[in-house]
Parts: sequence; C-alpha cells; structure tokens
Amino acid sequence: MKPIPFLDLQTLHASIAGELNDAMAKVLQHGQFILGPEVRLFEHQFANFVGSRAAIGCANGTAALHAALHVLGIGPGMEVVLPAHTFIATAEAVILTGARPVFAEVTEETMLLDPTKLRSAFSARTAAIIAVHLYGMPCDMDAIRAIAAERNLAIVEDAAQAHGATYHGNQAGTLGATASFSFFPGKNLGAFGDAGAVTTNDPTLARKLRLYVNHGREAKFEHLSIGNNYRLDTLQAAVLSAKLRHLDEWNNQRQRLAARYIEHFAQEPFSSFPVQVQVAPTGAASSYHLMVVRTPHRNEVMEELRKRGVPTGLHYPIPCHLQPALAEFGGGPGSLVVTEKLAQQVLSLPMCPTLTVDDVDRICDIFRAVIIHMKLR
Ligand SMILES: *Cc1c(COP(=O)(O)O)cnc(C)c1O
Repeated sequence: MKPIPFLDLQTLHASIAGELNDAMAKVLQHGQFILGPEVRLFEHQFANFVGSRAAIGCANGTAALHAALHVLGIGPGMEVVLPAHTFIATAEAVILTGARPVFAEVTEETMLLDPTKLRSAFSARTAAIIAVHLYGMPCDMDAIRAIAAERNLAIVEDAAQAHGATYHGNQAGTLGATASFSFFPGKNLGAFGDAGAVTTNDPTLARKLRLYVNHGREAKFEHLSIGNNYRLDTLQAAVLSAKLRHLDEWNNQRQRLAARYIEHFAQEPFSSFPVQVQVAPTGAASSYHLMVVRTPHRNEVMEELRKRGVPTGLHYPIPCHLQPALAEFGGGPGSLVVTEKLAQQVLSLPMCPTLTVDDVDRICDIFRAVIIHMKLR
C-alpha cells in the first residue's frame, strides 16, 4: 500500500500542472516581476473569494499581519491581546509595530481565544485583539466583538490558516477591521514560496495598506508616508490565481475528510479513550487547515502511529509565552494553564485535499489499533 502523506503538495500541483505552467510562463514573457498585472488581478479575485471590499497582496503572512496592525494605528505604548497558542508570527507582528503583546488564554475545547478570560488580559493600554482562527477554525467572534465593543478595541483577524472558513456564513477575512492571510506553501492556498494578503472592508484602510506595502508610494517617485517593502511578487500572484480557482473544491475535500475523522472519533474505542477533536464555536465552519486532536497520551500515540506508517504534526508544542524570545512578555510557566496543557496534548493528523475518505478510514483503523495496543499494556 502506498504510504500515507501528512501533506502532499507534489500530487496536488501535478493535478493542475498545465494551469500553473501557463501562469508562470506568462510572467516570464512580460517580465514585470514587481507589481505586474497578475498582482492586481489576484487581489481582486481574492477579495471576491473572501467577500471583502479589498485585498492587498503582501510578501508573506507575517508582513501582512504587521501591516494589518500598523494601519490601525497600533504602535509604541499600546498593548495587543492575542492567544499564546498560535504560531510565533502572531506575536512577532505585534512587536514589529512597537506595541506589546499580551497573551490571553484559550479554551481546551475550541483551542481558540477564551472570551470569558479576555478581560483579564486588558489594561488601560489595550488597543486591539488578534483573533487567530487557528487550524482554520473561526473564533467565537460574537463574544469577542461584544467584549471589544465595551472598550472600543479593534479586532484584527489572523486568518493565516483560515482561507474559506466561515462564521455564521461570513468568511474569515471579513470578521474584523483588518485580516491577514498567509500563502506559505503548506497553507490551504499556498504560493510557490512566501506570500500573503490583508483584507479589509474599509476603503481608507485599504489605501493605507496599499501605500504601506510599497514604500508609502502612490506614484513612482513620490512617497507620502514611510512604508515598507512588503509587496506580493508577480510570479506568486500568478500561481495563487491559478490555485484559487480550485480552492473551494480543495476545501470541500478537507471538510469531507474532517467529517469522516469526526465520525470515527465519536465511536469506540476513540470515545472511551482520552482523545478529542477541536470543537467548533457556535456558527463556525473550519477550513480544516489542520486536523488537530488532543490527548494526554500525545507523545506515545504519535510514536505508535509513526511506527505504523501514519505521519503526524505538532502545532504547536511550545506556546508563545514560553518561547525564549518572548519571555519578557509572558508570565512564565503556569501563567496560562489551558494553553500549556494543550501544547502538551495537541496532535495534527494527516489532512490534505489529495487524501481520500478511504485514506482517513485507513488512518483511523491504525489509530484504533494503537489505542487497543496501549490499553492492553
Ligand atoms: C503561517 C502563519 C503565519 C505567518 O505566515 P507566513 O506567511 O509564514 O509569514 C501567521 N500566523 C499563523 C497562525 C500562521 O499559521
């Protein structure tokens, strides 16, 4: 039997190789590698996909989140509240603005910001909240919005993993003042290298973003403000447009696979073994960037799955507040109990549009054997 991949981009790309080659060949022909026509085209298409008024291409997801915070006026002397259970880029983007990241707790079930514990992270300096739709699962936005409104705080979405995810029918990327996306190759929509985007419904913010990502420039020689070089490459935009045409179909397959995983996990022996899938907040539909479960026996389960040919991933074993680089911003071990527990318990199972429901059945059969093996000891 062919081995089970965790993520198989080669096969995914091979399925549309003709379209990808055509898209790249066009860029080679016209040679406008910086802000070529493909960039504007992709921005329109992506805004359309998300359902936002504007999308601004960026060099990567970290740059996109930095820009998304910067144009809201986030900077020195301010604090931004974010979960510690996320990729470090979420915190780095805050620090890049000059503001201070303040880590908030997540819930064990959703693995996302816990609205009931959000207020305890606030101070007089709090200016914004970053809602990270981790693994593709939208946060409990109604609750977060209600709390943000009490203090007039901006909400920025880190939608790096959530292309196509919805909350009460609205897509991630339309749920805050600004939202950042990553097109890192392994994301649901991935470039052939680094790329990202910011979406917003606010035309003023959209204009600021356009300036910021391109040296504060509107015309070639005149710079209206200090910006950055955060542009999306033409070649990446061309690849992204070609792949965007297939994103719905790929996300649908991810959702089918996730539904099958969830079906298995509701049955024996999973249901009597301590292993749980990520729970969706009311109204949230995940894009299933990752299929994450939590179990107190994580390391052993991972090793037993590996021995039987099932690759798994860790997202993320060290929470931000315990990262050496971020120690000055966190309260140290024991300060975020749920987050720290999740970091020890999360396990990502194979999830990729090239997998089939039969593959998920195979993976769950093997997981079943692992549980039985572990119970017998
Ligand atoms: C991938 C990712 C980012 C950063 O994106 P890059 O394109 O790698 O810079 C930020 N936040 C989260 C949650 C991510 O998964």
